[in-house]
Order: sequence, then structure tokens, then C-alpha cells
Amino acid sequence: MSAIPFDRIALIGIGLIGSSLARVLRRDCPTTTIVACARSAQTLATVRRLDLADEVTDDPVAAVAGADLVVLATPLSAYAEIGRRIAPALRDGAVVTDVGSVKGVAIRDLQPVLPARVHFVPGHPVAGTEHSGPEAGFAELFRDRWCILTPPPGTAPEAVAKVTALWETAGMRVVTMAADHHDKVLAVTSHLPHLIAYTIVGTATELGEDLQSEVVAFSAGGFRDFTRIAASDPVMWRDIFLANREAVLELLQRFSEDLTALQRAIRRDEGDKLHDWFTRTRAIRRSIIEAKQA
Ligand code: NAP
Repeated sequence: MSAIPFDRIALIGIGLIGSSLARVLRRDCPTTTIVACARSAQTLATVRRLDLADEVTDDPVAAVAGADLVVLATPLSAYAEIGRRIAPALRDGAVVTDVGSVKGVAIRDLQPVLPARVHFVPGHPVAGTEHSGPEAGFAELFRDRWCILTPPPGTAPEAVAKVTALWETAGMRVVTMAADHHDKVLAVTSHLPHLIAYTIVGTATELGEDLQSEVVAFSAGGFRDFTRIAASDPVMWRDIFLANREAVLELLQRFSEDLTALQRAIRRDEGDKLHDWFTRTRAIRRSIIEAKQA
């Protein structure tokens, strides 16, 4: 007996996220057939070696044939082309979902090309690491994290319920919200922090050589945590910033203003202002720990 309402699942893209989901399905839904699709022979060989799927192919059209669930787990920039190719091959009544980190663009690129005879339920499992590829995945990645679904108005509730069941099987808490709201929230919680990390680590690499070796040696002072975030996949993050341009730019403006305020407080020797600011931020860290999201 399978824990989810799908018999045949096509994973288009089987890197960190796709392979983690495959591992969940292998563990909890042994009767569900998994079809994995990737571009490179190397990824496909790894998927075979790790036994993450029943069938593997480099052809997304072949992958979706007969599938009652199709999960897009590629970088966002591949969506439009994949959507256009798989559309005619999708089974009537199939559910199509995705895991992309920006939802407005996922809907923009997929909804117009998908036929009305399938159900489209965009999703974002908010869980990840800085690693990529099928070897980096693990079934516990999703446990106790949130999955955000952003079904466009008019989406069949049964299809949303089925995708909810999928992510609940992976141990996630599932919530539904509008795509533009999702993109604003994630700009704050994920996209801006990544941009800051990429900036700081980039700045450090521009330093003189002698200072650079000390940056590595003494990185535990805080820099090390930024380097972990800044090691995230360049293709994925290029796509995220371009896809969520407006929300990120708006937030960046506010961030620059706050940075200027802190700069001024340091220059003017305003210790109380700094202390108040750091006290507030410490409280946020505590609330994240209490919510078990640390
Ligand atoms: P990943 O580890 O780099 O894996 C990407 C997969 O997509 C690989 O199997 C790759 O195949 C395939 N792929 C890449 N470009 C393709 C194309 N043009 N056509 C067909 N297949 C293609 O990526 P990931 O970290 O799992 O991220 C996948 C998606 O999940 C992204 O949209 C990202 O926004 C979202 N997401 C990521 C995280 C995270 O922390 N990583 C968290 C939540 C959501 P090859 O190996 O053969 O190239």
C-alpha cells in the first residue's frame, strides 16, 4: 500500500531536491513507480547506481508518459522549454507540480503551456542545503520543514490535496498562499540572505593575497557561515534573482537604508542604537529555534 495517491511519478530533474523526494518515495511508497529524468549521462548513471528510480531517461517526453504525477525539479530557467515539450504527452487528469524557489515565474512559464486536461499545483518545499546533484539528497531533508503550495485560482481542490499528501509523506507541514506573497516572503527569508552572502564572500576574494589567507584561517569568526551559503549552486541562484527581481530589488533598497543607519550609528559612536538593534535580532533567532526551524 502506498502512502500517497499516485502510482507513477515522473521526476524531471533529479538533483538535491528531486533525489531527496525519490528517497522518500523509495522508503515510504514502495509500490509507486518512479521515473527519473536528467540531461547528463553522469547523473542518470548515478541515479541507476543509487537505485533512486525504476526507470531513467534523458527524454522528458518519454518520462511523463502515463505518469499521474509529474514533478519539475530543474532550475527555473528550464521550465518553459520542458513545459512546452511535455504538454502533449501528459496523461489526462495528471497532476503537474514543481519545487522551484520562485512561484510567480513558475506559473508564468508553465501555466500557459500546460493543457486544461491536467492539474497544475505549483509548490516549493522550503528545505535545502548548499549541495547539488543526486548524491547530495537525503530523505530527511524535508522533515519538519514547510512546503508552500501556490495553486492559481480555480485549481481543483482534489489536486491540491494530493500534492499536500505527497509532501506530508515527506514529513513536511504544508501551507497554501498566493504566488506573489510567497515570492515576497522568500525574498526576505532566503533570497536577500543569499545575495548578502555572495557579496561578502566576493568582497573577501578581492582582498590582497596576504589578507586572503588570514580570511580562510580565521573564518570561524562569522565568515565561514557566509561561505556555506555562498557555495550554493550558481545556476539555481542566478535563476532565482532574475526570476524574483522586483521583490529582491525592493528589499535590497530597504536593506541598504538599514545598513546606512547602522553605519551612521557606528560613526557617531551611538552604542545604544547598536545595542537595541542587536537585541531585536537576537530575539528573532530565539523565535526560530522555538519554532524548531533552526
Ligand atoms: P540540482 O541539484 O542542481 O539538480 C538539478 C536537476 O535538474 C539535475 O538532475 C539536472 O540534470 C536537471 N536539469 C538541469 N537543467 C536542466 C534542463 N535544462 N533540462 C532538464 N533537466 C535539467 O538542483 P536542486 O538543488 O535540486 O534544485 C532544483 C529546483 O529546486 C530549483 O528550481 C530550485 O529553485 C528548487 N529548490 C532548491 C532548493 C535547494 O536548496 N537546493 C530548495 C528548494 C527548492 P543534470 O544533472 O543532468 O544536468
